[in-house]
Amino acid sequence: MAELNPFKIAQKQLDQCAEIMGLDDNVRELLRNPMREIRVTLPVRMDDGTVKVFEGFRIQYNDARGPAKGGLRFHPEETVDTVRALAAWMTWKCALVDIPLGGGKGGVVCDTKQMSKAELERLSRAYVRAIWQFIGPEQDVPAPDVYTTPQVMAWMMDEYSKIAGRTQFGVVTGKPLCVGGSPGREDATARGGLYTVREAAGELGLDLSKATVAIQGYGNAGYFAAKLMHEMFGSKVVAVSDTKGAVCNLDDGIDPENAVAHKRETTTVVGCDGTEGMEPDDIITSDVDILMPSALENVITAENAGDVKAKIVAELANGPTTPEADEILFEKGVHVLPDFLCNAGGVTVSYFEMVQNMNLYSWSEDEVYQKLDDVMTRAYHSVLETSSKYGVNMRIAAYIVAIERVIEAMQWRGWL
Ligand code: GLU
Repeated sequence: MAELNPFKIAQKQLDQCAEIMGLDDNVRELLRNPMREIRVTLPVRMDDGTVKVFEGFRIQYNDARGPAKGGLRFHPEETVDTVRALAAWMTWKCALVDIPLGGGKGGVVCDTKQMSKAELERLSRAYVRAIWQFIGPEQDVPAPDVYTTPQVMAWMMDEYSKIAGRTQFGVVTGKPLCVGGSPGREDATARGGLYTVREAAGELGLDLSKATVAIQGYGNAGYFAAKLMHEMFGSKVVAVSDTKGAVCNLDDGIDPENAVAHKRETTTVVGCDGTEGMEPDDIITSDVDILMPSALENVITAENAGDVKAKIVAELANGPTTPEADEILFEKGVHVLPDFLCNAGGVTVSYFEMVQNMNLYSWSEDEVYQKLDDVMTRAYHSVLETSSKYGVNMRIAAYIVAIERVIEAMQWRGWL
């Protein structure tokens, strides 16, 4: 379906904002397209001795504000258009939280669930060998995303360092602590999102200690969101889901640790003690105060947006809401925390990791949390103010703030 192509959606969102902001056609054209795209073919030796060929991408969308920055996804359904959209959103994300980085994204079409650890390592290293000329601490810095982990980042840092002939911690972020990682990076996406939820709840007069939460997706972002909503605010997580199904406990809530332990053991949250099964699609429309889509794109659509009951939709995933659904949610008065605001905590702490790597220094966890809180709170309020100034929804407001900053950098550089 054309309208569910993430890149078409990203371009449509941009066009909407360009209209409101009255951007010139050439500026719009520059912002609508990636500045550089790299496509690679990766032969990888599998454990049975055969060679399997994988397709990979790295897209550097816009580096006017600094080196390209953004995650790398390993996903069987990865497409170049998904990576393009994600790279665009990274550009707006870094500008919105006002860190000196541009936007990029990578992807490899593969199914990590079917691969051994050794195969994954060979694939990760092959990817770096294929694109090493185009990445680096001052060029483009990959990070974890869907199905890429601190271990994958460590292998990539190691491979790049071998090619460079010296340790290059700063080539990727999201690394394990002992090889140049930052304290607080692991749960940074969720934690940053929660700071924006806290601000939004303050705005709406919603008492988070009494709030109920549904979380769609139980990977890094979803699990830590559940854990931290519970720990930081005392909110009750009543429904969670993953690729295999969904579970709920509307009365007593779900213990986030139980759910993650069950998932680790059985690969899914389904069947977790003290929960009952529910239709995965129903999680989006469940009767909760806060809905957190925390997995992939296009889960809140024109079909189900009308039935969303949450007061706050906190988008920890990238691109979970289609433009049609956006309008419906806006009309219903749902307070949407758009993806490139809500999930910007990950890249913000990645930026802190880069700064620490440049100085071979490590900050304390508390220092990271405090700095992250400052960045996210400031970003939230700049979006909120812009939203009331222009009378637009939070996503368009976030675009306006981000686009203005990217354009300003392009002007100073003499690109426009
Ligand atoms: N993959 C995360 C995102 O989409 C983090 C990117 C990064 O740390 O560079 O924001």
